[in-house]
Amino acid sequence: MPFPPLRWKLLLALVCLLVPGLAPGAGGKPGRKKTPLVTLPGGSALRRDAAKAFERMSAAARAEGVWLWVSSGYRTRKQQRFLYERYKQGLGPRAARPGQSNHQRGTAVDVSVGHEDTPTYRWLAANACRHGFRRTVPSEPWHWEYRPRTTPKPAQGSNCLGQAVTPQEPPRTASSGQS
Ligand SMILES: [Zn+2]
Repeated sequence: MPFPPLRWKLLLALVCLLVPGLAPGAGGKPGRKKTPLVTLPGGSALRRDAAKAFERMSAAARAEGVWLWVSSGYRTRKQQRFLYERYKQGLGPRAARPGQSNHQRGTAVDVSVGHEDTPTYRWLAANACRHGFRRTVPSEPWHWEYRPRTTPKPAQGSNCLGQAVTPQEPPRTASSGQS
């Protein structure tokens, strides 16, 4: 005689209680630490420390008339797989294999820079290192990663490209203080 359906449901509920990763709606793999994410104004998210650094960088850029538009930040493994499949089929831009992209760690950000001769790109190249960001993929001028420990700050009086910077006029009130 088969189990009545109710007994199966109770059994399933018990299994879900004992193994949280199997419960419907449980995110990620059991035992894996969840990345603490912060959503940026445009809707993309980054790991908390990277997001804070990006917001500071964004404010610094804005104070100089440059807007940093984010086209992609944190991606789930599923999203990365989708982009990778599209890339392999020749339908989308280059994308790393799932598991090999720092977008999945929430530390990589794609900024709409156009090409390497736009004000946005030039600003990033000259200033991103001050905020712990640097470009890591030679063929992708839009892809920047937050690597504060291995990204050296420029020497006093020069920018991230090693060029001498002339002293700026005092910062405008909008860019000072806390926000
Ligand atoms: Zn990217």
